[in-house]
Amino acid sequence: MTEHVVSLIWDAWRTRKKGVGAIAQRQRARLADIVAHARANSPHYRELYRDLPDLVESVQQLPVTDKKMLMERFDDWCTDRAVTLEATEALVDDPSRIGEWFLGKYTVMTTSGTTGRRGIFLVDDHTMAVVTAMMLRWIGDWLGPSDFLKIIARRGRMAMVMATGGHFASAVAAARLKQRRGSRIEVLSAHMPTAELVAQLNRFQPALLTPYASMAALLADEQEAGRLDIHPVLLALSAEGLPQAEYGRIARVFNAKIGNSYAASECMFLSAMCDEGWLHINADWVAFEPVDADYRAVAPGEQSHTVLISNLANRVQPILRYDLGDSVLQRPDPCPCGNPLPAIRVQGRSADVLTFRTPGGEVRLPPLALSQAIESIRGVTLFQIAQSDPDGLELRLQIAPAANADAVWREAEAGLRKVLGEHGLERVAIRRGGEPPEQGRGGKFREVIPLSGGRS
Ligand SMILES: [Zn+2]
Repeated sequence: MTEHVVSLIWDAWRTRKKGVGAIAQRQRARLADIVAHARANSPHYRELYRDLPDLVESVQQLPVTDKKMLMERFDDWCTDRAVTLEATEALVDDPSRIGEWFLGKYTVMTTSGTTGRRGIFLVDDHTMAVVTAMMLRWIGDWLGPSDFLKIIARRGRMAMVMATGGHFASAVAAARLKQRRGSRIEVLSAHMPTAELVAQLNRFQPALLTPYASMAALLADEQEAGRLDIHPVLLALSAEGLPQAEYGRIARVFNAKIGNSYAASECMFLSAMCDEGWLHINADWVAFEPVDADYRAVAPGEQSHTVLISNLANRVQPILRYDLGDSVLQRPDPCPCGNPLPAIRVQGRSADVLTFRTPGGEVRLPPLALSQAIESIRGVTLFQIAQSDPDGLELRLQIAPAANADAVWREAEAGLRKVLGEHGLERVAIRRGGEPPEQGRGGKFREVIPLSGGRS
């Protein structure tokens, strides 16, 4: 580990310990620094910020950016003039080059993009060091000394279950970890038959397991049924896609700690979950603003339309006041866990709002209204609600083997009908999907999918 990484880890611990004031002070200083860097080295930001004062100390002074705007000006956006869209596309269009260093120093990853433009993100070494520091700060909260001893006893074996075949963040991370000498990493494709996946995990006996959340639920079913017999110390999941109670069940079944995080290719160290179930934003390295549809600040305790993030670590491709598209709720009071970093919950993607035409006009339904109707139903391990036509919803369920499938279907349909009725949408038809929930290209499941396909 380099001296640089060690000093970042030390700073991360000290800042958190000192509390709110120190976190805000770090954020302010790092923002001024990265804005100055972007103006000096990115033609796009130089132009975008030309009317701003020399010293920028508040994110609110900055104009909002998004993926479309930045991707359209890719070459001018990057601060290294050697980086071009053409060269990065050549890399990400070749599946055999996943995890390859770009120009000898950058990590490249993509976001899937079901609609609109795919995002291509470059990460420099400084950012990777911040990722390490943030991960250690988080894991230190989660694991005790005896957990670390157990991980060492199993020689740190880690199994990653993921969507393969694309330059997604998880696949790039896995490829990088495998390049390290002496690493014990097994990468398993989420697309292999369950029996084969179970056999491979039984053989490998991981100390750490990183499936995406719904895959963890499926593996918990296998473990409960006795086919899977593994004893991981920690399951690190992404905080998306599962009913809250499922996380507790997975922890019980494996007798393991569950670590949850919420991140994006735009900011890989965004946040991690505490044992009170709140995601704490690493605000010393990212400015995180819950805002309404007009980009005005939303008070803590109120649901936001979207969030703007400013990644204060990544210098090669500055992400500043960037519309991430997720609706969140920030906790208004201090989190009982004692962590002074801001605590949030993710409510879904703002672009996943469903729109229906009725004789009285357009009715817009937030994704949370529908998903809440389903996620509390016992026996549902995974679900997806897709708008299949302007007046129809298709419901896709994955039901626990021990549950009464017919009763679960009826309860789920009744729950949806109640929500639709409350919004004057009685005439919207609900169809049972014959297929299980579809996995997105990034390996994640979206709970609610609008007719257009929504945001990427
Ligand atoms: Zn907390």
